[in-house]
Amino acid sequence: MTPLLWPTDSPPLFTGLLVEPEEARSILRPQKDERYGFGFALSPYRGCGHGCRYCYVREYPNALHKPEDWGGWVAPKLNAPELLWSQRHKLHGARVFMASATDPYQPLERQYRLSRRCLEVLLLCPTTEVIVHTRSPLVLQDLDLLRAFGDRLSVGLSIPTDDDTVRQIVEPHAPAIPSRWAAAERLAAAGIEVTIGVAPLMAVHDAKAFARRAKACGASNAWVGGLRLLKQDPFYKVLADHGWLKVLDPDYKEGIRQAFQEVFPTRHLGRTPKASLPAPPAAEYPRQPGLFDRVS
Ligand code: SF4
Repeated sequence: MTPLLWPTDSPPLFTGLLVEPEEARSILRPQKDERYGFGFALSPYRGCGHGCRYCYVREYPNALHKPEDWGGWVAPKLNAPELLWSQRHKLHGARVFMASATDPYQPLERQYRLSRRCLEVLLLCPTTEVIVHTRSPLVLQDLDLLRAFGDRLSVGLSIPTDDDTVRQIVEPHAPAIPSRWAAAERLAAAGIEVTIGVAPLMAVHDAKAFARRAKACGASNAWVGGLRLLKQDPFYKVLADHGWLKVLDPDYKEGIRQAFQEVFPTRHLGRTPKASLPAPPAAEYPRQPGLFDRVS
């Protein structure tokens, strides 16, 4: 399929973002490890226009793009909704996580509406639970649809730091932190369960105030996840240059976890009580506890 450049009628995040629409062969990735708390991951896009500098997905095997090109290309899976519909028989009683290797509400969603159309399919699967996870207030464009799920959908918002000047360095193309808080407030006010994911943990200015802010926005859950560094990860230098190597220190993370635990003494991921989930996997150096690790 012919690559397209970013449509000119909407603001580009990256100059010359390469858009490569494709027909996907599969759409539901089974997650057999119950510790993650969901049965299938659903990603309506490959690649991610947010291009966070710490994102380890850049290293996933890719025949067309180098890791350093991460954030500069996105492949919308044009047939994602139809493919999902054709596989709906797998979804009875399942929990779907959207999305694990991309942001379902990255800017291209404004044009392609693939996440929305996948949600429309999931809405027709009455026994399926859904966790939408994003960094973007663009999720609000589907507020009506999200509400229609009732209590079988929750939204997770990643807010890795309370300091937007940190965000501007580590996630320069992702939405500003204040806009994420505002999105969390609107979602919660609309009766949607909201979880704040402090992940991957970045430098935090005031942990206690951060945790209180998460509570005040109406979130019912929060969790803290550590940074996952790749071998010879260039992000290490970013941390070092800014004096943020502390985020790799387990004690630092533990301090943030405790601050959140004081504010969210009982919490769970999605709709599953934490007590019913097995313990998270043990961390192994250099991998810090990852995306789905939970506050405990
Ligand atoms: S939003 Fe998520 S998937 Fe996209 S670049 Fe950032 S960390 Fe990676």
